[in-house]
Amino acid sequence: MAPVEPRTVAAIVPAAGSGERLGAGVPKAMAPLGGQPILAHAVRALVAEPRLGLLVLAAPDGLEEQMAGVAAAVAGGVPVVAVTGGATRVESVRAALEVVPESFEVVLVHDAARCLVPVEVVAAVVDAVLAGAPAVVPGQPVVDTIRELSEQGGSRTVDRSRLRAVQTPQGFPADILRRAHASGDPRATDDAGLVEALGLPVTLVTGHPRAFKVTTALDLVLAEALVAGQEA
Ligand code: C5P
Repeated sequence: MAPVEPRTVAAIVPAAGSGERLGAGVPKAMAPLGGQPILAHAVRALVAEPRLGLLVLAAPDGLEEQMAGVAAAVAGGVPVVAVTGGATRVESVRAALEVVPESFEVVLVHDAARCLVPVEVVAAVVDAVLAGAPAVVPGQPVVDTIRELSEQGGSRTVDRSRLRAVQTPQGFPADILRRAHASGDPRATDDAGLVEALGLPVTLVTGHPRAFKVTTALDLVLAEALVAGQEA
């Protein structure tokens, strides 16, 4: 019999964004994908990791109960808590972090919008944190040629072989994430950046194309096709 894994991992899902760029008319996490809210897919992807013992959602004001219900229905018995999100992503994560009990050793932060992330990516992030990394992010090579704008109005090509597009879940020892958020810039776009600002290194693990962020209506077309393929 396989050993029972201790449930030492808590996952925070910031889902309090308005999703204006998607144009679905509802918060992005509640936009339908294959007949279920995007959030339900994201929760299923996370609870596939057996070391996960708690899910904390940051929901838009007034949608806490509804989102907790959507998540609990697919969480496979993993407890779900919903808090009210903040004005920025960092503030939403901070509010969620406040309710994560000290007993959880590892905290993942996963955008609801990256709802099709394969469990292998989640597991690789958890493994790297448990191996001692202070911050772990999945990354993917950049396929476009990238130009950097200069202050003078010109631009130059950046060596893309040295670039990685960062995905989620990002993983941290709980105490380090708490320290990072205690002093962190509320405008930061991810949590690894806050840990980096403490002077700590960020470890990259291999991400996955399916961990893309559903941001625009075009992304939703791709996500629908992938979900339909899964069910076929
Ligand atoms: O806007 P963006 O797509 O970068 O947002 C990433 C994630 O952060 C989304 O899942 C969104 O719901 C969440 N978010 C949040 N609170 C905010 C803004 C964004 O939880 N105030």
